[in-house]
Amino acid sequence: MVKITEHIYFVEAPNKARFPYCHCLLIDDERRALMDTAFGDENLQELLPTGIDMIVNTHFHEDHILCNYHFPTAEVWMHTLDAPGARTLPAFLDYYGFADFGGDAIGQDFITGIDLHPTPVHREFEDGDIIDFGRTKMQVIHTPGHTPGHCAFYEEKSGLLFAADIDLSSFGPWYAHRCSDIDDFITSIRRCAEIDPKVIVSSHKGIITDDIQGRLKAYEEVIHRKEEEIITALAVPSTVEELAVQQIVYGASNTLSELLMWFEKMAVAQHLRRLVKHHQVAQDEGRYYLI
Ligand SMILES: [Zn+2]
Repeated sequence: MVKITEHIYFVEAPNKARFPYCHCLLIDDERRALMDTAFGDENLQELLPTGIDMIVNTHFHEDHILCNYHFPTAEVWMHTLDAPGARTLPAFLDYYGFADFGGDAIGQDFITGIDLHPTPVHREFEDGDIIDFGRTKMQVIHTPGHTPGHCAFYEEKSGLLFAADIDLSSFGPWYAHRCSDIDDFITSIRRCAEIDPKVIVSSHKGIITDDIQGRLKAYEEVIHRKEEEIITALAVPSTVEELAVQQIVYGASNTLSELLMWFEKMAVAQHLRRLVKHHQVAQDEGRYYLI
């Protein structure tokens, strides 16, 4: 664990925080709190005996709530819009939208494969709420798009923003399920830029202090690049499936598992939804074409 401020520690996840892990924070204050819990076994064993009072989850995703169930006495906090997706497995599957594109069995395999346990959520918060840990106070910055209730958390006195899955990865923003919204994601990235934090903690890229503004801009740019490629591909009117096999989102050179191909379809569908909303694309019997 790496001390970042007087009371905030960075809990580094194994395997470079690749799925199903994420970097997390420990707030060592009057209330001892974890922010997200998918930090791997070694951290879990170290943290279990230390008395955790509360868990603040950035959003409902499996790779953020994974170890919540190991802390049954902790009070769990989450944004109102994501709490239902974490409380029960059927709601989790529904938030992903696995029933679309015939993904029911893929969804079941997904949650079985990572041994996902639902988590109770005892306290719900909203944008602008201040979470008071004692001397550490963090402001809730509602940053939807990745999920409806995704939140970042800002500590004003240190200029630290825990941006969670606005993760500044080179892959770019992830919006490959039913409850994502690309327009909201763009707004949320820009909101992080407006806050102009000194430090960003990314759930999958760790502590970032250099060129934060440039990196946020480059991160948003990935969305526009992929969208341009989809528009180019729509020179031939296409279905979601026909676009998905071109692997514009996950990269044409990669071999995709059944799950990743399902995510590819969902991500393409999100782009198409946005293009229809912005009157650039229309649809006729499932085939999309440029207007
Ligand atoms: Zn996520």
